[in-house]
Amino acid sequence: MARIKLGTTLSGSLWLEHITDLFSLDGRFARGKTYFNKGYVKKFSFDGSFVEAGVKGSYGNYQTHFEFDNDEDAKRKIIDYFQSNPMAQSSLLNGELTESFFDWCKSENITLFITRKHIIQGIRHRSVLNYEASCSCYDFYDAGSPCKHLNALLFALCAEIDTPIIPYQIRQQVRLLYN
Ligand SMILES: [Zn+2]
Repeated sequence: MARIKLGTTLSGSLWLEHITDLFSLDGRFARGKTYFNKGYVKKFSFDGSFVEAGVKGSYGNYQTHFEFDNDEDAKRKIIDYFQSNPMAQSSLLNGELTESFFDWCKSENITLFITRKHIIQGIRHRSVLNYEASCSCYDFYDAGSPCKHLNALLFALCAEIDTPIIPYQIRQQVRLLYN
């Protein structure tokens, strides 16, 4: 099994920390990681905030997707941050996001990672997610409790986040390693 090292960059390790915090109590998390390591995540595509892939499962291939809520306000703030901060800009061009960027996001209340808030409405508890997700498998019913395939996709996204910003053509080749 080709085990791909994840969390090799600050961004990737923070991503890993967040998905581990949220989902690792469920056995599907570890199974999803195994699926990812076995190369079951196929046709991975990442376009802005939309991620999709076909993930091989026990009874065929499933179509799975993950999408962040679009926060235009946060996007604008982040662009301003890099435009007015040449040091941060040059590390971004080297494919790195610095600790101070993440600290700044925290101070601005910008959420870069998956979150799940519990709110109480009347007598009911409800989860509020800052993302949407789906999978075509029979086991999927709620984006807040991902199936194995969706977990595998979240690991594939971690590998993608770890990939430094490099020219598009090379990036395509790097992707082939994951597929
Ligand atoms: Zn699934």
